[in-house]
Amino acid sequence: MTPAPSTALAARLDPAAPIPFDNSYSRLPDRFFERIAPTPVAAPRLIKVNRPLAVQLGIDPDFLESEAGVAILAGNAVAAGSEPIALAYAAHQFGHFVPQLGDGRAVLLGEVVDAHGARFDIQLKGSGRTRFSRRGDGRAALGPVLREYIVSEAMAALGIRTTRSLAAVLTGEPVMRESVLPGGVVTRVASSHLRVGTFQYFAAPRDLDGLRALADYAIARHYPQAAQAEDRYLALFDAVLGALADLTASWMLIGFIHGVLNTDNTSIAGETIDYGPCAFMDAYHPDKVFSSIDQNGRYAFGNQPRIMKWNLARLAESLLPLIAGSEDEAFKAASARLGTFDARYQEAYLAGLRRKLGLAEALDGDLALGEDLLAHMAANRADFTLTFRALSEASADPAHDGEVRQLFSDPAAYDGWEQTWRERLTRERQRPEARRAAMRAVNPKYIPRNHRVEAAIAAAENGSFALFEELNAVLANPYDDQPALAHYAEAPAPEEEVQQTFCGT
Ligand code: AMP
Ligand code: MG
Repeated sequence: MTPAPSTALAARLDPAAPIPFDNSYSRLPDRFFERIAPTPVAAPRLIKVNRPLAVQLGIDPDFLESEAGVAILAGNAVAAGSEPIALAYAAHQFGHFVPQLGDGRAVLLGEVVDAHGARFDIQLKGSGRTRFSRRGDGRAALGPVLREYIVSEAMAALGIRTTRSLAAVLTGEPVMRESVLPGGVVTRVASSHLRVGTFQYFAAPRDLDGLRALADYAIARHYPQAAQAEDRYLALFDAVLGALADLTASWMLIGFIHGVLNTDNTSIAGETIDYGPCAFMDAYHPDKVFSSIDQNGRYAFGNQPRIMKWNLARLAESLLPLIAGSEDEAFKAASARLGTFDARYQEAYLAGLRRKLGLAEALDGDLALGEDLLAHMAANRADFTLTFRALSEASADPAHDGEVRQLFSDPAAYDGWEQTWRERLTRERQRPEARRAAMRAVNPKYIPRNHRVEAAIAAAENGSFALFEELNAVLANPYDDQPALAHYAEAPAPEEEVQQTFCGT
């Protein structure tokens, strides 16, 4: 039985406008986007509606699951109030500037405001060609659609800032990649689709009116407090920098590798966006790369903080013409703010690392203690997620040390570190049981492991969505034990290990 929408939701439902659009981006000047409807598909079929997310957004999930709803999710119908647009943006891709990129396979249907007053974009991805498609077909294969759905929802459940997935559908049309694959469309929900690359799009040709309109829009939508600052554009930069420093730290603390951290995939709102060849690490190594297109390791796990700062430098450059004072003064002010990135990142990272290690007090040497553990993990191929989860148990009872030790190729590598850690724990006031609970709340048992994601996709390509459903279900509560599904916590066997992930575009 499907649960009835809450009374609060029922009061907001309007049958004439099943999605309560309230659009703002489409009010910006015409050169910000192309007005274009999604291209209809042959045979839309629903894979999944994210019912709790629909309810949060004030949309009746039963409507989305109906024929009329699925038609909207596939791009075969344009909902009342929707003003579909493809957004223009530029980017540095792997360090090279591309002046015009844009939504080549996505269409923003419009925005909705949830019950808490938060505004969200609703976007179809895989919805057909636009002015920005270049040589692409504007479509998405089923695999990348399901990957984005699974991983973005897992990130949300892990407590990491991210875009969400509202729905996935099959198009009933094949897409040509290295092989012929079923096509799909994912409905993405984002705090916005403003990217560093959106600013570059206006800054590169020195379209200062466009740039100012964009910056004012970003301030109003995401960082209204910046409007009160002496220099609102410098304050905008500062706010984005803080959000992205925190976001990057949260990735580094959970073992997430974005994979294509180009400036078009760097959100001004501070959310993880554009799940392509992204992956969670199994065995820890800072040089880990999965993406088949990242041949030089530019976007390797351990490089992410450096790359995020590099992307922020591109944002700072783009904003320079708006920042008060002479060119020289603006440059100095922006550089000084950019220079705060390392400390802000480090602060967020260290706070998170302490939580992962069960350290409620902040003492000198904590960073070195954490880094020492990571170095032993890297040298011994210890599984990132399992190690911290097992440490959570061991923190309250050394009888569990064996479960940590066995994760290291040389178990003795853990012993020396463990002694230092236990000594450090004696300086804590927190009781062992409280520490264990606090550690379990930040060290997940379940992450979207590559081999599980690939298995769910392979089954779906053969027509069965049971694994996709089960994987989503287990990942919805990543910090709970869920004994019946405990096998999802396991690291891949050597023959199951995924070595490479693909963009799938
Ligand atoms: P991404 O790698 O997803 O960040 O995409 C980079 C750029 O390529 C964006 O401008 C996308 O819109 C565009 N793109 C990716 N795949 C396709 C496709 N199948 N058809 C058209 N454009 C695409
Ligand atoms: Mg992108």
